[in-house]
Amino acid sequence: MENNETILKVKNIHKSFGDLEVLKGVSFEVKKGETICFIGPSGTGKSTLLRCINLLTQPDQGSVWLGDAEVTNSGKNINHFRQKIGMVFQNFFLFDHLTAIRNVEIALIKVRGMKPKEAREKALEELRQVGMEEWAEHYPAELSGGQAQRVSIARALAMDPDVILFDEPTSALDPELTREVLEVMKKLALAGMTMLVVTHEMGFACSVANRIMFMEHGEIKEQGSPEELMSDTKFERCKNFIGQFD
Ligand code: ADP
Ligand code: MG
Repeated sequence: MENNETILKVKNIHKSFGDLEVLKGVSFEVKKGETICFIGPSGTGKSTLLRCINLLTQPDQGSVWLGDAEVTNSGKNINHFRQKIGMVFQNFFLFDHLTAIRNVEIALIKVRGMKPKEAREKALEELRQVGMEEWAEHYPAELSGGQAQRVSIARALAMDPDVILFDEPTSALDPELTREVLEVMKKLALAGMTMLVVTHEMGFACSVANRIMFMEHGEIKEQGSPEELMSDTKFERCKNFIGQFD
């Protein structure tokens, strides 16, 4: 299925913390259904970039657009955009005192005003999507890290987002658990979800991403398809970076 609609535009984003210039003018566009992986050394602004996209951090300059609507100028619509641009973090951020299904349905009830029964059905459907429906009544402390991360993906999905941002979703997990989370993400990508994924998982990036962006010192230094990354035409700096892991 071809779809050429641009869903997200990031234009010339700058962000400093005090004297530290973390993002030095980052721009790119994302088409509906694309998966884009961001790789690069730590401290180069990848998390800050994702946080600027859904305004967890306010950029100093530049704009973010979801479809024709400007996210960076959203005023009291900010919560609308936070629903439409979902986020999945390294450390899950589930509510410890709520069961898996309550974690997924709570925003459906409190933010979207859904009736409890309807919210429960939708939450269960989202848990099914990530293979966690049998764990619906368990608390986060009873789940493995991989299971907890799958619940947090279900929570993002429940908002029917246009885009999901993943910030190193498997960095806190053992290899076995990493695999089960990456499987879920791959399934979402194949189902047409638009995803921006900060990751060190090169296998995932090369097999799932439509494009790979290499970030360094607050800029996108190189970008292209996985094929271009694996051929010798582009990504020289990026290859040096990847080589450090071998
Ligand atoms: P990455 O995700 O690529 O590792 P980050 O975006 O987390 O990079 O951080 C980039 C730089 O910005 C780092 O030097 C970090 O210490 C700094 N930084 C990030 N957030 C803040 C903040 N809220 N206040 C001050 N410095 C920050
Ligand atoms: Mg980071």
